[in-house]
Amino acid sequence: MPQTQVLIVGAGPTGLVLAIQLARRGIACRIIDRASGPGEASRAMAVHARTLEFYRQFGFAERVVAAGIPMAALRLREAGREVARLDLGALGAGESRYPFILSLPQDEHEALLGRQLVALGVRVEWGVALRALAKGPDGVRATLATPAGEESCDAAWLCGCDGAHSRVRQALGLGFPGGTYAQRFYVADVAIDGPPRPDIEANLAAQGLALLFPVRRTGMQRVIGILPPGLGDREAVEFEAIRPTAEAMLGISVARVNWFSTYHVHHRVAAGFRRGRAFLAGDAGHIHSPAGGQGMNTGIGDAVNLGWKLAEVLRGRAAESLLDSYEPERIGFARSLVATTDRAFTAMVGTGLGSRLLRSLVLPRLAPPLLGIGPVRRRLFRTVSQIHIAYPDSPLSEGRAGALPAGARLPFLEVPGGDSHAPLDGRGWRLQLHGEAAPPLVAVAAELGLKLDAFPWSAAAGRAGLARDAAYLLRPDGHVGLAWAGQDPARLRAYAARHGLRFGAAG
Ligand SMILES: Cc1cc2nc3c(=O)[nH]c(=O)nc-3n(C[C@H](O)[C@H](O)[C@H](O)COP(=O)(O)OP(=O)(O)OC[C@H]3O[C@@H](n4cnc5c(N)ncnc54)[C@H](O)[C@@H]3O)c2cc1C
Repeated sequence: MPQTQVLIVGAGPTGLVLAIQLARRGIACRIIDRASGPGEASRAMAVHARTLEFYRQFGFAERVVAAGIPMAALRLREAGREVARLDLGALGAGESRYPFILSLPQDEHEALLGRQLVALGVRVEWGVALRALAKGPDGVRATLATPAGEESCDAAWLCGCDGAHSRVRQALGLGFPGGTYAQRFYVADVAIDGPPRPDIEANLAAQGLALLFPVRRTGMQRVIGILPPGLGDREAVEFEAIRPTAEAMLGISVARVNWFSTYHVHHRVAAGFRRGRAFLAGDAGHIHSPAGGQGMNTGIGDAVNLGWKLAEVLRGRAAESLLDSYEPERIGFARSLVATTDRAFTAMVGTGLGSRLLRSLVLPRLAPPLLGIGPVRRRLFRTVSQIHIAYPDSPLSEGRAGALPAGARLPFLEVPGGDSHAPLDGRGWRLQLHGEAAPPLVAVAAELGLKLDAFPWSAAAGRAGLARDAAYLLRPDGHVGLAWAGQDPARLRAYAARHGLRFGAAG
């Protein structure tokens, strides 16, 4: 059997997306999971625009959108009264092809990813657990516990996508510093009396906070809240214990409970995302509060970032140093995300006077006028959707043209016959230009086998921060690697040489 090029430990959303990306590029990967089969809990619901943009590159975004429910609105309620409504359907209009937040239960999402992977010829090996990790002859040697007994697997590279209790992280000796919030939370999927409520409802009160939103097309609703005082210390809590508080805060009557669980929320980032030939991605590397539904989307972002780099290196289309950019790019974002969600979460769920006043007085009064301001709504969308993620300090980022520094995501804008993101297929680098491409640049792009997408200059391109006639070299994930005005072909040659890039026919 040929050596596995990449061994992926864990078939949650992070591992599945990594496997899909590698399989699309013809990389021989194995994906194992110690569970006996796919997960069945709804867990992460929010699928954000940046994730859908990546799925579009892989060719299945529209299928994911069709399976979920775009969230129509966020309603802020205080003491049973609506104090603000934010239209989510059009929140990111003009910013992304997916200007909404999609609600899709994690089990259905994973099933869909699993089918994509099977179509690419790779099956998850269920019931196979990583036990130990050592240096291998040309990479890593993993000891696996399989239903047929212990097995040794040599792989050139390994990725730990094995969740918060990551065995890979432990085996690499990477710490997981951070903390745990004092409050205990509950989560339930319920059917309510009367028609299902289609919007996200956030109910604020001095004594706590509760959320309600749609889960499944079957009409199931998700309820999330903080366990009332007195229940937080109890070992086992049943839904009936929180029914009176939840129903009163949310103004609902629960007819049936499908799933109920309580949990503590942690905020931690691993001490590193890489040791030698082994990487961490997803919850194995970072966990944080559920504020904003960022966890799963961040794991998928890690997988996309690592996947294209591994594929390029393994296909001999980039120097191995390309992989050095994974950790700084993604750990930097994970740290800032944990810090932001920590601040927001502590303020929102705290029991101190400040938090109680925030929930009962400040937010109900400030949110309505704030959410009516265009730039505030735009900023909110850019942040929550993850389209704002940029890597300006990455070793791969060079230059700036217009308002767009290297490392930024290529802005989404309409162009004749489509949009600026349409050419991106996740398979290779591309050059994009809005204005006139001069013959020397066209010639060098052709010589290097680099696809050039040139669009007529437009006011929309200017508004998006692009500079007329500037060239933007796009990485396979749609972030700008090199941005330069003047189209000097020498800049492109030098950048390609520095990173050992071979563009050629995309694989
Ligand atoms: C109640 C709840 C609600 C949430 N809501 C949201 C939300 O709205 N939005 C959001 O973005 N996130 C949300 N999250 C977080 C989200 O579920 C996680 O961030 C996401 O599942 C992480 O994906 P992952 O693939 O990195 O890890 P996991 O989904 O944890 O997958 C890890 C996999 O690795 C396997 N594994 C573990 N150890 C081994 C081993 N030794 N060998 C082989 N396999 C192994 C496990 O069986 C598992 O299948 C929520 C989480 C919870 C619990």
